[in-house]
Amino acid sequence: MNKELFIEEVRKLGIAVDEDKLDKLERYYELLIQWNEKMNLTTITKKEDVYLKHFYDSLTLIKAYDLNQNISVCDVGTGAGFPGIVLKIFFDNIDITLVDALNKRINFLNIVIKELKLENIRAIHARVEEFAKETKEKFDLVTSRAVAKLNVLNELCIPMIKIDGYFIPMKANIEEEIEESKNSIIKLNSILENIISFNLPIENSIRNLIIIKKVNSTKEIYPRKFDKIKKQPL
Ligand code: SAM
Repeated sequence: MNKELFIEEVRKLGIAVDEDKLDKLERYYELLIQWNEKMNLTTITKKEDVYLKHFYDSLTLIKAYDLNQNISVCDVGTGAGFPGIVLKIFFDNIDITLVDALNKRINFLNIVIKELKLENIRAIHARVEEFAKETKEKFDLVTSRAVAKLNVLNELCIPMIKIDGYFIPMKANIEEEIEESKNSIIKLNSILENIISFNLPIENSIRNLIIIKKVNSTKEIYPRKFDKIKKQPL
């Protein structure tokens, strides 16, 4: 995805693009490539691929949640900063916490945060199993791209969201995982509100945004709610 197409597709998502954001993104790309030679950050390095499979893909979270609000967000297993850093560049209004178990990735993220002069963002070196114990019901939105199976993620991430908050993992393949995770969603007082499925531009590979909402009590909602859930391709 070249820059022109990136801008076009991001605007189609309803996201404002300006020179400052594009400059920050470009600098992020340079740092990613520079530090990738010293540490394993990503196997995707070609500029057009990074813009599509990391940058654009990260921004597709907007299909599931309005990020134009002053909300607290946590990106679990952020790796080299996807989707967290990209979201922060485009949605300066969010307060975001990036969590990863690998310290060298946290060191890289701190360099990016400093270089790009990003504010209201922090990179935390922790296993989410530990981090979650200290952050119960702290976030409006928790997301996670390509980290673990949904039933495992649910147990760790749903306790971190506030009541009426959302956990929205970003995943490629989900069929089996949804089936396996239904019990954990119910047990954790949550509802599977929707699954937004779509294809990445150009290469057409499938992506899913699984929208899980934490509620006060699920007693009156189940089992009726799950019967209603359908995949909704856009
Ligand atoms: N989200 C990024 C992306 O989409 O490019 C990184 C995905 S990478 C496949 C998975 C990341 O999750 C790694 O950076 C790994 O260190 C982190 N991770 C795996 N298990 C974790 C855990 N229990 N707690 C925190 N981070 C974890």
